[in-house]
Amino acid sequence: MQSLPAHRSVLGSLDIRRALPRRERRLVGPWCFLDRYGPLTFSEAKPMDVAPHPHIGLQTVSWLLDGEVLHRDSLGYESVIRPGELNLMTSGRGIAHSEETPRSNSGVLNGVQLWVALPSAARGMAPAFAHHADLPRIETKSGRVRVIVGALGGSTSPAAVHSPIVGADVEIVGNGSVELPLDASFEHALFVTAGEAACEGETLIPDVLYYLEPGRTDLQLSSRAGARILLLGGAPFGESIFMWWNFVAGSHEELVAAKLAWDDRAEGWFGEVRGYDGPRTSPGLSVL
Ligand code: MN
Repeated sequence: MQSLPAHRSVLGSLDIRRALPRRERRLVGPWCFLDRYGPLTFSEAKPMDVAPHPHIGLQTVSWLLDGEVLHRDSLGYESVIRPGELNLMTSGRGIAHSEETPRSNSGVLNGVQLWVALPSAARGMAPAFAHHADLPRIETKSGRVRVIVGALGGSTSPAAVHSPIVGADVEIVGNGSVELPLDASFEHALFVTAGEAACEGETLIPDVLYYLEPGRTDLQLSSRAGARILLLGGAPFGESIFMWWNFVAGSHEELVAAKLAWDDRAEGWFGEVRGYDGPRTSPGLSVL
């Protein structure tokens, strides 16, 4: 098991821990980005406030443990997610969105922002957005597993995906353990979001990405006092991708074209996010 501690960073006023991409590991299956934020409490400030920004070549997977996030996008979708629900935005050839703490909120925030790289066959597809409030839950003797994307243990998420993938939130309540069947052709990663867990005698702590090579048919996770663990996996991606800012592409030229299209508000590309109070985000003078 390879241990990769997340890097600390900031997004606006929000402290984040970035676990993917890493120089040592850019992808786990098609998963290409993992930002962890919270848990935090707040009274007046708006801890999440990400102004309209574009994406290409990926899907955003928004997952909360506590609190709520309001999503608005250039297709016109406006959607609040709460813990246990999935907001899945498929950028395809281009979309823009904003994400912010809604005015009506519970004063807590705790979640992860994940991206899934689209394979070249899906990279040029039309953008889409889906809110999934009813994901499969597998009840175990020690807790539960929520299948966010893909399939696990015979339960399949309704979320639309474009390459072999799994994403699940494993919850162990108190002292207990869980055994999960794995697809042996997948590589996987574990990321603890609460408590402390163990896998094959190794202690798993929060904010570290633990990478597991392909070839495993099952996984044993345990905890003494309870834990939440994200399981991410997929078939090794098999295509080289270029990542820059909020873009995933098959070439440097595609990244440049997308940046220029956003800067120039190119007709028919990203569109406008309506309803967000403030200017949109720009990569500024950054040169590719
Ligand atoms: Mn985004």
